[in-house]
Amino acid sequence: MTLTVKTKSRTELIDITSQVQRQVDQQIKETGVSNGFCLLFVPHTTAAVTINESADPSVKADILMILNQVIPFNAGYRHLEGNSAAHIKSTLVGASEQILIEEGQLVLGTWQGIFFCEFDGPRTRRLHVKLIGSS
Ligand code: ZN
Repeated sequence: MTLTVKTKSRTELIDITSQVQRQVDQQIKETGVSNGFCLLFVPHTTAAVTINESADPSVKADILMILNQVIPFNAGYRHLEGNSAAHIKSTLVGASEQILIEEGQLVLGTWQGIFFCEFDGPRTRRLHVKLIGSS
């Protein structure tokens, strides 16, 4: 199954925890599997997915601030499309996550949330969500 994420800024972290849980709920309904893990995969080269603190929105702002400082938008890159900074951020943050599912619920720490990371927006993005059952 695939989530659609509409991003609004050039760089942005969007909390998608509840949307992922809804996708998992639907897959549990269809398959009867309620334990295992959930694979998240971003099929883009200038976006990513990560897990970090969702309680204080300053954390995602700080993550973006430092990523944008460490990987500037212009740095004499060779890639002619002009979005090398986004490609580099995507590789550093990563295109996938795995989260345990117990009794139908994502197993996340108290302060953790799942974030879709836009690095070359605004765009309409996709995120694959696959529930994989195990005992
Ligand atoms: Zn490019």
